Amino acid sequence: MLEKQTDPTSPMHWRGDMQADYMYTNGVAGDRFFRHLMEKDTFLATKCKKCGKVLFPARLYCEDCFQEISESDWLEVPATGTVRVFTVATINAHGKKMEEPKIIALIDIDKTDGALLGIIKTKDLKRDFCGVKVKAVFKPKEKREGTLKDILYFEEKI
Ligand SMILES: [Zn+2]
Repeated sequence: MLEKQTDPTSPMHWRGDMQADYMYTNGVAGDRFFRHLMEKDTFLATKCKKCGKVLFPARLYCEDCFQEISESDWLEVPATGTVRVFTVATINAHGKKMEEPKIIALIDIDKTDGALLGIIKTKDLKRDFCGVKVKAVFKPKEKREGTLKDILYFEEKI
């Protein structure tokens, strides 16, 4: 198993089981974004000082002009937004019909140029949610784990 593969025309193979461990990191900006999410009911974004774009979720480089983001370019934004598009999901990821359909929406986050996918909690599944203002509802702080699952759902902002 520890042999080094040096000839790409002669692939190695193994018989039997092989354990594979994966570790995915959020990166420096993602880590800071999720640590913030554990403690606050707001989001973190970064603002590009060259082109003015507010990157959400926060990033260390502007994806448009490649400007490096510095410490002073981080900002807290409200956990609110506007539904850009949505769909009513009736079948889960395993192909089974869900007991209760879910509204899954792409939400433009306020004061940023970014968006987030979220679930909208509602009883009215026939409604047009495009353009509706929503706010995030978080888990209680003591139950948060620093992932997007800390956002339970979005609900209409009244
Ligand atoms: Zn930029």
